[in-house]
Amino acid sequence: MDQIIHHLKNSNNVLLASHINPDGDAIASLLSMGFLLDTLNKQTTIYNQSPIPSMYRFLPSAQRIVRNINSGNYYDTAIILDCGDLQRIGKAAVEVNRIPVVINIDHHVTNTRFGDFQLIDDSACATTEILYRLFKEMAIPINLNNATSIYTGILADTGSFRFSNANRSAFEICAEMVALGVDPYDVAKHVYGTYSFGQLKLIKLAIESVEISQNGKLSLMTLTQGMLHETGTQPEDINGLINYIKNIENIKIAVLIQEQMNGKQKTTPPQQGQRFHVSLRSDKTVDVATIAASFGGGGHPRAAGFSIESNVIDLKKRIFSFAETL
Ligand code: AMP
Ligand code: MN
Ligand code: MN
Repeated sequence: MDQIIHHLKNSNNVLLASHINPDGDAIASLLSMGFLLDTLNKQTTIYNQSPIPSMYRFLPSAQRIVRNINSGNYYDTAIILDCGDLQRIGKAAVEVNRIPVVINIDHHVTNTRFGDFQLIDDSACATTEILYRLFKEMAIPINLNNATSIYTGILADTGSFRFSNANRSAFEICAEMVALGVDPYDVAKHVYGTYSFGQLKLIKLAIESVEISQNGKLSLMTLTQGMLHETGTQPEDINGLINYIKNIENIKIAVLIQEQMNGKQKTTPPQQGQRFHVSLRSDKTVDVATIAASFGGGGHPRAAGFSIESNVIDLKKRIFSFAETL
């Protein structure tokens, strides 16, 4: 941490990036790091390749997040947040490789330790927990805007303190953020309380797609581009749908297959090579980070994911044959 602090103080022009299809922690950690660099009077570009899910647009300074960056030569430092590997930021990885110093701040157990400096703690419940510790170490006061980000990152990554990473620090840090003025009711209203009619229709289609393995231990939900089109929703509206099938009784692994938009889509028959993102969630008995890593992805023991080129029939077959080993 000392080396990173030293480097941050000496940096001038910093790029912040987090993973594509960002969750609450990916967005909150970008904003929180942005506040830290503001305090140090650094020039900062806050980047994410994907649109910000509507429920996180209330976060103070969310409008600072841009979807395009300058060439890598423009920045002296990149800080990559909440990413197990650099490719997770998407196409900007090429530019980041040109930036002289890359700092990797993350809590994924599968982190590849990319970059020149790392601040990785897989026991942290969220990347914003790591940033909270960085603020403390640097003795930088946490203002209300920043407290809102730190709180929301932890709230999102612990599934509102329901997941196995909801530990003592999660509560302690959030209590401190509430003492600084964060209103849990207000945050919850934004994060959980608002959805469009289209999103409700998407939930209906998602639930209709659910299949359970013969042994009853694996649940599978499938979301296609057609469903998004039919309901007028966006990929970011899918956030959280996997929780419906994770909580079915006796389920050990929940799997969400998400058909990705790709250039070939219009001309390729549906049964041929199509890109999918696969999300995995597990109960305490299965380590899905290892499974995701075996498919070239990564994540946490209870929440992981990977991307794959396949067709939906083969992919489901592979997933259900895996279920038999549970
Ligand atoms: P998701 O599948 O998007 O719900 O993500 C679950 C967890 O796994 C998150 O912590 C992600 O950052 C991580 N994850 C998802 N996809 C990948 C991937 N392709 N490579 C590495 N980590 C991933
Ligand atoms: Mn994340
Ligand atoms: Mn995270």
